[in-house]
Amino acid sequence: MINKLRVIPLGGVEQVGKNCMLFEYGSDIIIVDLGVGFPGPDLPGVDWLLPNISYLEKKLDQIRGIIITHGHLDHIGGIPFLIHRLGNPPIFATRLTIGLIEGRTKELGLRNLKFNTIEANKVFTLGSFKIDPFHVVHNIPDSVGLSITTPIGTVIHTGDFKFDDNPGDQRPVDKKKLKRIGDEGVLALFSDSTNAEVSGHTLSEKEIGEKIEEIVRQAPARIIFTSFSTLISRIHQAIVACQKYNRKMAIAGFSIKKSIAIAQELGYIKIPPGLLIDVKNINQYPDNKLFILVTGTQGEERSVMTRISRGQYYMVKIKKSDSVIFSSSAIPGNELAIHRTMNGLIDQGAKIIYQPILGAGVHSSGHAQREELKEMLNLIKPKFFIPIEGEHYMQAQHIELAKESGIKRENCFMLKNGNVLEIDEYQGAKILPQKVNGLSLIVQGKMVKVLERDIIVTRRKMADVGVCIISISFDRKRGQENIQVVFLGLSVGDKIISEIKNKVRNFIKKYGTKKRVKLTIESRLGDFILNKIGKKPVVAVV
Ligand SMILES: [Zn+2]
Repeated sequence: MINKLRVIPLGGVEQVGKNCMLFEYGSDIIIVDLGVGFPGPDLPGVDWLLPNISYLEKKLDQIRGIIITHGHLDHIGGIPFLIHRLGNPPIFATRLTIGLIEGRTKELGLRNLKFNTIEANKVFTLGSFKIDPFHVVHNIPDSVGLSITTPIGTVIHTGDFKFDDNPGDQRPVDKKKLKRIGDEGVLALFSDSTNAEVSGHTLSEKEIGEKIEEIVRQAPARIIFTSFSTLISRIHQAIVACQKYNRKMAIAGFSIKKSIAIAQELGYIKIPPGLLIDVKNINQYPDNKLFILVTGTQGEERSVMTRISRGQYYMVKIKKSDSVIFSSSAIPGNELAIHRTMNGLIDQGAKIIYQPILGAGVHSSGHAQREELKEMLNLIKPKFFIPIEGEHYMQAQHIELAKESGIKRENCFMLKNGNVLEIDEYQGAKILPQKVNGLSLIVQGKMVKVLERDIIVTRRKMADVGVCIISISFDRKRGQENIQVVFLGLSVGDKIISEIKNKVRNFIKKYGTKKRVKLTIESRLGDFILNKIGKKPVVAVV
């Protein structure tokens, strides 16, 4: 038995997303968060990235539980895909978070998950770990950070957090409690780095609520409003404003309807009777009495806002008097798609009041900015500091802040996924030379797969240069091969197609056996086509 604390991020460092960190002491392991990552355009066909759990698969009997800090996908999204691979351990989360997890797991037909409801300030024990959740403000209610007491000291995992003394429908972070924990001595702080390079303090939710009310009061006609589906507090602000200024709210889009239904069922949102109308009936109301809440902050292909921008959403057609509001920020990489959506809306005559790229008074990040991160460091005063939830450049900025707060550089650790940070009884800490990485996992459709780079390379190539399919069958009547040539994603004239057929016929004559012909065509026909048309498609023989 090792009497050292081991901390291993399986995701969530050196990148944004797929948050998952395990704490191991003796024969006990707890996991904090099990999220998904968002694949970039370099991974076509990949729906989600998953934390690499091969280390855990060897130690299933030691897993005492999974604790989830809040209901965002990058913290819960991996559960449906990985929970059974982990031996279906108990899940510990707050009420809303459990509601959101159940929403996803039921959709995928998963049953028998072991949920345990936790609450801020209610301590529970899992093996060697005593866990004291503390309430944090984030842009989803019921978020917690964790104070985890181990046999060698207390560590703090902030989860996603910000400090906001006027957080709208939530209550502020209990700074007194954090200070008390800090005063008692904290071995290590693991803190959210998402906004470590953004100076100042996040805009208060109170100010955002006031701004939304001002817009609702002043807009001359319809308001079309989008925000993140899980941003329950923003939706709450919109409901309050509609009620105050007597507008009806119509909701369009599956994900936003679903999260409102869960939040309403669990009592996190109260919708006054008569406020909601069906989007099909909006034409029965005057334009200045309408507030249309839709999905699509990121220019997502199938979202309602994107379809409206293309004139493809028949229930809401843009009118010149419409005010469009994006209460959101751009997730890096989505800027082009958002611009395209906004261009489409403007082309149809809408007025866009707030833009996600420029940011403006109707959205605030859910993540602490530099002043708040400093405050967290100063309250907790940890011996060791580990920036989490962020790419390396964000982690590096966070370490600079920690140094300014008086933490020694050698006590700050920049972890990579799969690194093992070992803290021993005498409170020395080091990163072990060996990482615990195994094969990278992804979700493709409904399946969990190992990320195979060569498949991705082929996919990218197919998108770039198209596909040429050669079908060969033997025509008995004519006593010769029947050759079909089909191009996908490339337009090629008949003359070249008959030249390709001749070439294939020559290969058949020369290389006789089926297998050799197939291999030869697949490896050499591409060059022949390249010569003819200047593009070398992926060639497949069937
Ligand atoms: Zn979050």
